[in-house]
Amino acid sequence: MLTASTVIAMSQKQFENFTASSLYCEKCKAATPVRERLLLVLPDKEIFDYLCTECGSSVGQREVTAGDKLTAQAMSARRAPAQLLH
Ligand SMILES: [Zn+2]
Repeated sequence: MLTASTVIAMSQKQFENFTASSLYCEKCKAATPVRERLLLVLPDKEIFDYLCTECGSSVGQREVTAGDKLTAQAMSARRAPAQLLH
């Protein structure tokens, strides 16, 4: 028999995969649930796109670098490449 605590533990486990469950959408003018979509995979980082589940527009992006994977909510510090790789 499933107890209530078992169900809670299961849902908490699922939530570990979601770093952002809702973001502010300018079109909806409200915080809406978002869908995370892998936008781009680069050799040193991955870029995720957050889509509003209400209207489908992009409400944010997240860059995950190898070093940033520990800090899931890293600020979107955009560092321009200082030098080109040859
Ligand atoms: Zn929206």
